[in-house]
Amino acid sequence: MADFSSLKWLNRFIDETPGDLKVGGTSRQVPGACWSLVKPTVSPNPELKLWSEEMGKRLQLEKPDGLVLGGNEVVEGMKPYSQRYGGHQFGNWAHQLGDGRAITLGEVELSDEVLELQLKGSGVTPYSRFSDGKAVLRSSIREFLCSEAMFHLGVPTTRALSLVTTGEMVVRDMLYDGNPAPEIGAIVCRVAPSFIRFGSFQIHTADGNHDTLEKLLNHTIKNHFPKHKVDCDEGRIAWLTDVAEQTAIMISHWMRVGFVHGVMNTDNMSIHGITIDYGPYGWLEDYDPNWTPNTTDASRRRYRYGNQPQIGAWNIARLAESIAPLMDDVELLYGVLEHYDTKYIESQNSMWSGKLGIDDFSESDESLVVELNSILQEVETDMTIFFRLLSSLEKPDISLLVDAFYNPDNIPTEKWNDWLAKWWKRVDESPNQEKMMAANPKYVLRNWMAQLAIDAAEKDDYSICEELYKLLKNPYDEQLEFHEKWFKKRPEWARHRVGCSMLSCSS
Ligand code: AMP
Ligand code: MG
Repeated sequence: MADFSSLKWLNRFIDETPGDLKVGGTSRQVPGACWSLVKPTVSPNPELKLWSEEMGKRLQLEKPDGLVLGGNEVVEGMKPYSQRYGGHQFGNWAHQLGDGRAITLGEVELSDEVLELQLKGSGVTPYSRFSDGKAVLRSSIREFLCSEAMFHLGVPTTRALSLVTTGEMVVRDMLYDGNPAPEIGAIVCRVAPSFIRFGSFQIHTADGNHDTLEKLLNHTIKNHFPKHKVDCDEGRIAWLTDVAEQTAIMISHWMRVGFVHGVMNTDNMSIHGITIDYGPYGWLEDYDPNWTPNTTDASRRRYRYGNQPQIGAWNIARLAESIAPLMDDVELLYGVLEHYDTKYIESQNSMWSGKLGIDDFSESDESLVVELNSILQEVETDMTIFFRLLSSLEKPDISLLVDAFYNPDNIPTEKWNDWLAKWWKRVDESPNQEKMMAANPKYVLRNWMAQLAIDAAEKDDYSICEELYKLLKNPYDEQLEFHEKWFKKRPEWARHRVGCSMLSCSS
């Protein structure tokens, strides 16, 4: 085990792609660049509050103090930078966005992989636009706990290494409604193979800067997709096909566990097909495909639960078209979109095969799923509890699933028993329960659970954070000691509480 200065640091992104000639963090446009060198802002009193033992071990790092992770110390080998990227926000092209509150420290070379370490919330960068580049405790806890929970659910994701409070208060207008208030400042250190996004490519195509576009693409394929060729149509299509495939798989996992990302803008889509940028995300409690946790999206609901697979396709189309200027034969790009659709349907089938315990799931089972989707929406029904209880059902009787309903007096009993009977017959009275238990988690980071952890942490009590962190490391296990407390429908107090049912992008 070592400290930061004895890790093996690499800076391949800086070495291999064009950057900004200016150093430092005042807001500016930086055409042609992929990054700007920038120093993290010093925190007045950085304190390490949450630490991932697992990620620490993976990096061979001893639990440190808050100095490096709070942005106060840059060790030899690190070349901190912010990445420049663009993006489509809610369907509209926004041009340059970039890491407005994220600073990469560097890449760490391990025996079998290279991982990038990035601070989120460590002050202004050239991409901060009109904001301060800081993050608050509330959103940092949500990122730390959720990214770790997602990993243990088997959903591809960035990881979290640490959460540090900065010792500074940061003013935020949580709901953008004219009520700014000071909140505790915090920084999460997150970890991923890279933080390259769809928008990282789009910005250069929009600028007409094909030289930078090509350098970035060559860097990406060479380092992160080394099995593909660089500098030719064949390699580019193979790479895009990989991205499309990984994205389809990731979104099918979101659908399986009831995760709603909330801001699937193209700047928030990783080229590794991992979940990135935990902001106003949420978990379906009542099964409502139209639900979105993001207040900024409340009127159009572009990023609602049920629309995520289609948005994935739309985003892949934007990525593919951004590569068009480098292609000899642009027609080949259509194949990438087709691959996304094929792969999504395949992953969706395998998801339903797991959720319903049907080993040989085929197209003919789709009507069973369509019917289930419709009955689940008839009355308020808890997604997680429903599927978990279904996974150990002993006979097709809805009265055994009563705990999944928010109002036990209005359950559409007849419809349910009809559906259960059909399903029971389909699985020859013996669903593959082992498979169901591994596809239907018992514990997810419900919105109100995260809020309870935040409320306590804001009073400097991190015990609920730690308890949830422990719980969510084994989301498919019964963990009976936690059953009463956390295997529970949303409590009434959380129905309309800010942070539980309503979230904004404000960080
Ligand atoms: P998001 O969609 O929340 O990931 O953020 C959209 C853009 O706003 C990105 O370029 C972020 O870096 C930037 N941004 C978000 N919050 C802040 C902040 N507190 N300070 C500076 N930039 C920010
Ligand atoms: Mg973002």
